[in-house]
Amino acid sequence: MSQPQKKKKKRRRYKLVWPSQNPAYLKEHPELAEKKKRKKKKRHLRYQLTWQGWVIIATAVAIALALIIPRVADDSKLKGLGYSKTSIAAIRKDKLVSTILDNKWYSEYLDQSFSDGTVNTDYLQLYTTVTSAHSDVITALDDRDFLLYSRLLDKGYTVTQAVRLFGNLHFWEITPLLVFDYQADDQAYIDDCVSHRDVNSQDHFELSGSYYTYYGNTLPVEDSSNVDMLVNKTYYLDSTYTPKDVTDLSSYYAATGRQLAGTAAEALKDWCNAGRDVGVTFYAASAYRDYDSQDTLYNNYVGSMGQSAADAASARPGFSEHQTGYAVDIAATNEDDVEEFKDTKAYTWTSTNCMDYGWILRYPEGKETITGYEFESWHYRYLGKELAQAVSASHLTYDEYYCLYLKGWDDEANKPSDEIIAANDYRTSTSDTSAAADSSASPAASASASASSKTN
Ligand SMILES: [Zn+2]
Repeated sequence: MSQPQKKKKKRRRYKLVWPSQNPAYLKEHPELAEKKKRKKKKRHLRYQLTWQGWVIIATAVAIALALIIPRVADDSKLKGLGYSKTSIAAIRKDKLVSTILDNKWYSEYLDQSFSDGTVNTDYLQLYTTVTSAHSDVITALDDRDFLLYSRLLDKGYTVTQAVRLFGNLHFWEITPLLVFDYQADDQAYIDDCVSHRDVNSQDHFELSGSYYTYYGNTLPVEDSSNVDMLVNKTYYLDSTYTPKDVTDLSSYYAATGRQLAGTAAEALKDWCNAGRDVGVTFYAASAYRDYDSQDTLYNNYVGSMGQSAADAASARPGFSEHQTGYAVDIAATNEDDVEEFKDTKAYTWTSTNCMDYGWILRYPEGKETITGYEFESWHYRYLGKELAQAVSASHLTYDEYYCLYLKGWDDEANKPSDEIIAANDYRTSTSDTSAAADSSASPAASASASASSKTN
């Protein structure tokens, strides 16, 4: 039986073809074919670039890692020392990473100073002395400390010594070293200071050892034309020095025949008048002494008591402040000896108010170790109002004050920045003038105050 053969119907298959993939269509639209070609080419190019890019990226990553890894390591070392994130950024900005890491410099105070931006990077090692372990002697640093530190270097102390001194002593225990001889054994000096902490303060300073050779390493006065010149057992005036405008003092203010440099004579008048306004009288018992009269005085002492005793009682010629013309010995009455001055109400008033009239008590009680002179309640030195007030406020002897702020630099390399010098320099603002007060009411009271037997 024949079955009708079912003709297999050819099924038409439809396939969706994008025009861009249809060769026929593309033939009709050559611009589309061209576009496709370009696309293909592009894809190929991109593939090549990516491959080269990998090389570049790998190199860049390698370089970045080479840069970042040590940086991360340094940061971690700084962090290990104790520095905060802010401080580390500041240290990096100041390019001090290796300096600090090589020396392992750290203190909480240094960290704080870096992070608040107050650090003075010239004195980094000094910052390491400010720690909780040393908080009894130092809790912060200022320009005054930087100046003292630089002065120590100028005086011959090594950085190690200077740092040790700051880490162990109060500011006022270090400043005498500027007047004393160089102490190679700074530890002995530190021990001596520490053993006197029960009696010492910024107003009283004594030690067991001897650190100042009087007339040891003598030097000429640095600038004898300036009222701020230092004359002590180191600095001397030569025999030809005479004060500016030597002026006779009126017998209303002084014993007969006394003289001072012009500005000091005016300042003495103002001071005496101010005292009289509040019922306090005092007179210049001794004032300017020239080189020859000091020479005679001193040699008389040497003849009668020997040189060592003479040195204790009198200044050698050239080394007396009286030769400057800016020093007076005062007494409360015409008859009083200057040595009794400390028991008078005039002493209470003069020692409290002298700086406002341009004078300082030059050899104060408790500072004998530094000045090399016994306490002299009667001996005042004229410096001009501004400098006298600054010296008084500093609680330093004039010897220390001068060496810290006014002395010339032996080694310019140790000189601190101009800002520090400017912040501390009183030389420029020291004026050799003082307002003259009108001494109208001038009775003929003759003040024949007894001349001082003291000759320093
Ligand atoms: Zn005197």
